[in-house]
Amino acid sequence: MTDWLTPGLAHLWLPYTQMQTAPAPLPVVASEGVRLRLADGRELIDGISSWWTACHGYNHPHIRAAVERQLAVLPHVMFAGLVHEPAARLALRLAALLPGDLERVFFTESGSVAVEVALKMAIQYWRNKDRPEKKRIVHFRHGYHGDTFATMALCDPEEGMHALFAGSMPDQIMAELPSDEPMRRAFDLLLETHGERLAAVISEPLVQGAGGMKMHDAATLAFIAGACERHDVLLIADEIMTGFGRTGRMFACEEAGVVPDILCLSKALTGGTLPLAATVARRHVFDAFQSDDPAAALMHGPTYMANPLACAAANASLDLFESEPRLAQVAAIECALREELAPCRELGGVADVRVKGAIGAVELAGRIDLDALRRRFAELGVWVRPFGNVVYLMPPFVIAAEDLSTLAAAVRRVLTERAQQA
Ligand SMILES: *Cc1c(COP(=O)(O)O)cnc(C)c1O
Repeated sequence: MTDWLTPGLAHLWLPYTQMQTAPAPLPVVASEGVRLRLADGRELIDGISSWWTACHGYNHPHIRAAVERQLAVLPHVMFAGLVHEPAARLALRLAALLPGDLERVFFTESGSVAVEVALKMAIQYWRNKDRPEKKRIVHFRHGYHGDTFATMALCDPEEGMHALFAGSMPDQIMAELPSDEPMRRAFDLLLETHGERLAAVISEPLVQGAGGMKMHDAATLAFIAGACERHDVLLIADEIMTGFGRTGRMFACEEAGVVPDILCLSKALTGGTLPLAATVARRHVFDAFQSDDPAAALMHGPTYMANPLACAAANASLDLFESEPRLAQVAAIECALREELAPCRELGGVADVRVKGAIGAVELAGRIDLDALRRRFAELGVWVRPFGNVVYLMPPFVIAAEDLSTLAAAVRRVLTERAQQA
């Protein structure tokens, strides 16, 4: 029964969607494992984990049970002057998992807000150290850090949002990723030139996600971290997409041996069940807020901060990383994606194929009809949703080899058809 669909849809405003021309959204009624069930009974194999969140697949019984238990006891309570076990346990566990002395956890409810909090931390850190002029942020081309005003200002300027809201956003400094020697010299010079006014550099370690699934190596990340240290600029690692195993390590920074000053987490934090995000600071960052001056405290506090249901889900998700072989599953997915997406390189209209961990991306060239591609994937029984100029797979880590093959075969088939039509 979908008697809710047409009347309700008349009142919904969908994200990133030109609603006059886009194909109607598919009514989804249930999820299980790596499958989404539609109202007409069809099942789609999910190739993108609901915007990269559902790392254990859907409806994992362990997470469901933890949320049910919490729901019966304390579904929500404000987080000022009160503290509860799910948040305390989660903070302790994140501090133990994260590298170095990343040990102070500030909870929020979305990735964009986690980045906003990181920016506040970085700017106020310098203010508290009597360096109020250090307040600008360096970000990288092809980066993506969120949809709110401060985070939009850190996204790739070629991206639509910038042109639309130009003049309403803070003015920040965009850099190229320092992936070779000349670019490293240029990046170093940039930090030297602007260092006196810079609060932080923000980077998506190893893989830039929503800005185009661009990948860089650990040496580049290590260089960025070294340059920040040399020039007395904080490093913010936005691991909202890469965190929790997606690139092959628990956190992408580990591969480069980098301990950023501030690190942002969200997407897979609750295994894709409830909204939650965390901004985690190193000891010296937190210490700069310790003072007898109330104005030196961090001024932020979302109403639903550290929601106990979400924290319970996140704790259950971390249990699964301990009890089930998630990183081994990611390694197996990486091997399979390398093999199964490689043939796309030979197709017309394909510019590049990139794989890292459980991320496989095919960059397209030429005119791209996203609606047509998306429709075709659904017809083939898979949920794959290309954006910009990339078709990508980021499946749940628990996906069976056979289902992963079905996803990759659908990508090859759809891109072969596109090449033939060109
Ligand atoms: C998704 C994402 C964000 C924004 O998170 P929201 O929860 O959508 O606000 C920020 N940074 C990165 C790297 C992301 O992938």
